[in-house]
Amino acid sequence: MRIVMLGAPGSGKGTQAKLLQAERGVPQISTGDLLRTAVAEGTELGLVAKSVMESGELVSDELVSAMIKERLGEADAASGFILDGYPRTLAQAEDLNAVLGELGIGLDAAILMDVGSDVLMKRLTGRRTCSTTGKLLNIHFSPPEEIDACLEAGGELLQRDDDNEEAIGNRLAVYARQTEPLIEYYRRRSLLKSVAAEGAIEEIYARLRTSLGLA
Ligand code: AMP
Repeated sequence: MRIVMLGAPGSGKGTQAKLLQAERGVPQISTGDLLRTAVAEGTELGLVAKSVMESGELVSDELVSAMIKERLGEADAASGFILDGYPRTLAQAEDLNAVLGELGIGLDAAILMDVGSDVLMKRLTGRRTCSTTGKLLNIHFSPPEEIDACLEAGGELLQRDDDNEEAIGNRLAVYARQTEPLIEYYRRRSLLKSVAAEGAIEEIYARLRTSLGLA
């Protein structure tokens, strides 16, 4: 399975990619996660990426494409991959084509996670991570028991640095301007599959499996 997950910030790409990774045993590769790790480790790349990420703008195509090229060359990606948050620009899509061409492989599908803007805002402004378990929660949508379980275990509900209202607005604008053109790009290549991505996580996952022919 070699797929790309497309969709706005908050569309649930990461959540669904992780479920697919667990079921299919192919790695979820998230450029956002790779960049956050670089920032946390204080590497040279992390230092460059930090302020760009905090503002909600995109890190340069050269940096993320080099990162992806290296990651796709690792052993666990040989059996397949789920790209989450890459490509995000037409230039990155062309870079990806070139890398896959060098490896002699192609994409099976580009999955568009389709979510309306009201739901996106609630998902992004409500998103939290439990500091003790790492579980992803949402103050608007998670069952109160799950939130209480984190707090009672002494955990804190952490918010991503770029999940504040200003950065969220910018990330959505950047998505509309730079990433949405990829929908047409992959449609023209007959790779696009759209998944209605509102509702319960399990329902969305069932629709995703159907669109991939796994159901
Ligand atoms: P994400 O976790 O996918 O929402 O990404 C968080 C931030 O990392 C984005 O707002 C960008 O600043 C940066 N980022 C992640 N993936 C990319 C990418 N493919 N191209 C450029 N910047 C990226």
